[in-house]
Amino acid sequence: MNTLLPTSIVGSLPKPSWLAEPEILWSPWKLEGAELAEGRRDALTLAAAEQLRAGIDIVSDGEQTRQHFVTTFIEHLSGVDLERRETVRIRNRYDASVPTVVGAVDRERPVFVDDARALRAATDRRIKWALPGPMTMIDTLYDRHYGSREKLAWEFARILNQEARELEAAGVDIIQFDEPAFNVFFDDVKDWGVATLERAAEGLRAETVVHICYGYGIKANTDWKATLGSEWRQYEESFPLLQRSTIDGVSLECHNSRVPLELIGLLRGKKVMVGAIDVARHAVETPEEVAATLRAVLPFVDADRLFPSTNCGMAPLPRRVAREKMAALAAGARIVRSELSGTAAAPR
Ligand code: ZN
Repeated sequence: MNTLLPTSIVGSLPKPSWLAEPEILWSPWKLEGAELAEGRRDALTLAAAEQLRAGIDIVSDGEQTRQHFVTTFIEHLSGVDLERRETVRIRNRYDASVPTVVGAVDRERPVFVDDARALRAATDRRIKWALPGPMTMIDTLYDRHYGSREKLAWEFARILNQEARELEAAGVDIIQFDEPAFNVFFDDVKDWGVATLERAAEGLRAETVVHICYGYGIKANTDWKATLGSEWRQYEESFPLLQRSTIDGVSLECHNSRVPLELIGLLRGKKVMVGAIDVARHAVETPEEVAATLRAVLPFVDADRLFPSTNCGMAPLPRRVAREKMAALAAGARIVRSELSGTAAAPR
């Protein structure tokens, strides 16, 4: 396990074709009942093994146990009607069919805790588990009960905190909250977004990270990025707030993005998961390209707080491409690690 520049992936990996239709996002399951439960667990074990083989230091489940990074969590809560689906505009960008909140929301049983135990059993390395953040959750459902985004966000924060504490007890070392909505709803981020996120992370001994990004490499997102101009300064709004927050680190998109890297300096003192792998194209980065991205951010983040990572989830990619991108990430980190420690890169 590398303590300097430990690598990890942000979230999803492609699912095996026997579990779900490959190369599409939020693909429906191909199995059901007990077969689905076993299939998901097998896929999780495989995802862990593939990360280890690629040389990834901090292992996650590759989101093999969920169909969607937000709705799968929401669907386990009471107060949500799964049959009653509405089409809503996600992050003002694309339409999706989502469940409806029809009453007080609550978590009647753990959602991912058994899966986290399975991941814990699959490796001795540090493990990371991703949960949706409160703001992204309320942006991914239709509310007929609370009538207030903020009120519902505080309820979700309470529920997320229960889940996070149990994940920690199951042996999870790092809890990651996915908040792509932080790049869109700036007023809400200031008013209650960061506060509800801190509530979700309250009292945890596990490290906490928030992932903010420009989304998966799907057309609605790449079209949106094309409208953002030559410099993407969205992080400028959220980073100063997060720098003052209790959250330990931030995961962000860097490689092939137009984010001015000096914005990372706004996070001084926090851990930074730097996206050095583009998830929107199939071309596999060379280790040298990964190393170049990591070197470019070093003026803005202390080396012992730099965590090389991917820009976002890799679910829509072919499995071979995802595997090769993970290996490139590990190899690129190895180059910079040896530069920092003043030794030549050890051959594998
Ligand atoms: Zn993302």
